[in-house]
Parts: sequence; structure tokens; C-alpha cells
Amino acid sequence: MAEAGDDRAARRLQQMEYLRGLYEGHVARFRAAAADEPLALARAAHAGMDALLAEHGRQPGADAVRCRRGCSHCCHGPVEIWAQEALLLAEHLRRGGRSPDLGKLERQSGYSVETWREQPAADQACVFLGGDGACTVYEVRPNTCRKLLVTSDPRHCDISRGEYERIERRFCWEAEMMESAALEVFGLQLLPKALLAALRDEAGEGPPVDRAAPPR
Ligand code: SF4
Repeated sequence: MAEAGDDRAARRLQQMEYLRGLYEGHVARFRAAAADEPLALARAAHAGMDALLAEHGRQPGADAVRCRRGCSHCCHGPVEIWAQEALLLAEHLRRGGRSPDLGKLERQSGYSVETWREQPAADQACVFLGGDGACTVYEVRPNTCRKLLVTSDPRHCDISRGEYERIERRFCWEAEMMESAALEVFGLQLLPKALLAALRDEAGEGPPVDRAAPPR
């Protein structure tokens, strides 16, 4: 019995060391890339995340993920993002000749992770969520959106049912380490405020977006 417990503890330690190594590797790579062109940096990070998730999708049990187009519970919460991703979204909008709902972004900017759910229900939805429940910027959505893998019944993701506590997730820990490292190096912001800053930056208004890693 004691031997089995020791084995489990050793495996857990090994797993933690593996994840710490991944995290530190990503932190080092992001720090080295911080001065790169921000749009290229964000595109490369998104491609890296997609590759990690594709690899995860080949692992046993990955077919339990039930996310599908139009199921959008995750799009009604605070979306964590970094400045380069916001610049990529702003550029995508400009190229498409689109303008997001600026009033909604301004209202949402007054809320934090802790207070997000205090907003009226309609304002809790991401500004990019389409009427059909699909993301309207799917190609350039932030990495925090890419890595969410829900395994519970999609009906629990219907926000009108209020069944948040029944939602279950599968974690791709490699993806979690990558995103944690990006947020550590580039700084965590919520999408509304970061996007407004990026849109002003695109328009040449207001202070430039800080694209460099925050000082440590
Ligand atoms: S960017 Fe797209 S996927 Fe992410 S929260 Fe908004 S609508 Fe959902």
C-alpha cells in the first residue's frame, strides 16, 4: 500500500516538474519574443496553441470534448487576453471594415473578473459573439478561448439554464502552461479594455499600447 502511495507521489512530482519545465520554457521564449512585431508574435502563439491542442486531441479520452459551434457559455465570462492579441483583433476588424459595439466595450470595461456577472445578462456576452452563438472572429480569437475544452452535456452551457456548476472541463495542461506564461510575460488584461486600447492605437489616438513585457 505504502509503495503504491510512493509511486503516485513520485509520478505527481515528475508531472509537476514536467509542467514547470514547460512553463519556464514558454516564459523564456515569450520574453525573447517580446520585442518582435506584435501581430506576428500573436499569430505565432495562436499557431503554437492550435498545434498543442491538436496533439492533445489525439490522446486517449480527448473525444470526450463536446464543444461545438454555437455553444457559447464560455463567451459570457471575462476573457483574459494580452495586448498583442488585442492588436491582432483590432487589425482583423480594420481589414474587414468592421467596428465592434464600442458602447458595450466601454460598459464592460468597468467590470473585473470578480464583478463580471454583476452586469446585465446581455452585456456579459463577448462583443464578438454572433447571434447564432458562434464567434465572429474565430480565426483570430485569443488563446484563452482556444484552450477551453468542455466535456459535460452541452445543455449545461446554455446560460439561460444557469447550470454553471454542472459544466466540466478537460484540461490540456501543455496549453494551460503556455497561456499562463504569455499572461505572465505580456500582462493579463480583460478583452474590452485591451481591445479599446488597441483600437485607439490603430486609429493613432491615445497612448500607444505597451507591447513589451512588463518589468520584473
Ligand atoms: S472572442 Fe470569440 S470565442 Fe472568444 S469569447 Fe469572444 S466570441 Fe467567444
